Amino acid sequence: MSRTPARSLPPLRETVRAHGLSASKALGQNFLFDEQLLDRIAALPGDLDGATVFEVGPGPGGLTRALLRAGARVIAVERDHRCLPLLADLSEAFDGRLTVVEGDAMAVDADALAGGPYHIVANLPYNVGTALFTRWLEPAEWPPRWQSLTLMFQQEVAERIVAPVGTNAYGRLAVLAQWRAEAKIAMKVHRSAFTPPPKVMSAIVRILPGEEPEGVDPALLSRLTEKGFGQRRKMLRQSLKSIPGAVEALEAIGIDPTRRAETVGVDEWVALARLLKC
Ligand code: SAM
Repeated sequence: MSRTPARSLPPLRETVRAHGLSASKALGQNFLFDEQLLDRIAALPGDLDGATVFEVGPGPGGLTRALLRAGARVIAVERDHRCLPLLADLSEAFDGRLTVVEGDAMAVDADALAGGPYHIVANLPYNVGTALFTRWLEPAEWPPRWQSLTLMFQQEVAERIVAPVGTNAYGRLAVLAQWRAEAKIAMKVHRSAFTPPPKVMSAIVRILPGEEPEGVDPALLSRLTEKGFGQRRKMLRQSLKSIPGAVEALEAIGIDPTRRAETVGVDEWVALARLLKC
């Protein structure tokens, strides 16, 4: 597959200026323009030549260009209609390897759009980032159709995703990300790399699907962690009491119900969900 555009494109900053596109805070817009950085991000999923990538929020298309340069076929969902003319130019320059869907990423079915195995790569808008992430982690079928997630978050969120048990950052997000997948911080990105610079630093998390422990209902695990960490300072016997049988199950697998959620390891949450399902 030809990696270079069929016709040369002006630098992204120029294109953005020519279209009078200013970043919208309400849409969580912090753009990346540094091509070298963007190429490094697009290299994180591995060889993308001929692969399908689902991108949320291409904006003016900096990361999209890098993914296309890497040889990917990109399906991108963007909510901001002002970006569509820039993205249409990009699609034409790369021989139609870019398909843009205008709309809310929360409302689209990425599996159906991709139509086969695909990677998800995105500089996520902070307002829907965690909601999208938990959705990608929750499919009933595992392994999921996506082969990898390469996602830019605020650094604090990235640290919650990879956090080990017993740390302040450890919570529901860590359990959901780690119980049947591997999660790592692949790159830290300084706030000055963005236009406009956000208040906080960012980091890119890489997630690869792992083996699924047997006999666990993902929806039940999700509910248990929601309740447990929803009242993280309370003892488990209090925070889980609305889930029938949960306190008895804790005792049956040797977890002291006076412990707090943040001390319960990923394997212990999994054991609890497995026992409760039986
Ligand atoms: N990918 C670009 C980059 O790296 O420079 C822009 C990233 S910016 C952080 C987030 C993008 O997500 C913006 O273009 C914004 O318009 C878009 N966006 C915000 N909410 C969205 C939603 N619910 N669905 C799809 N796109 C959304």
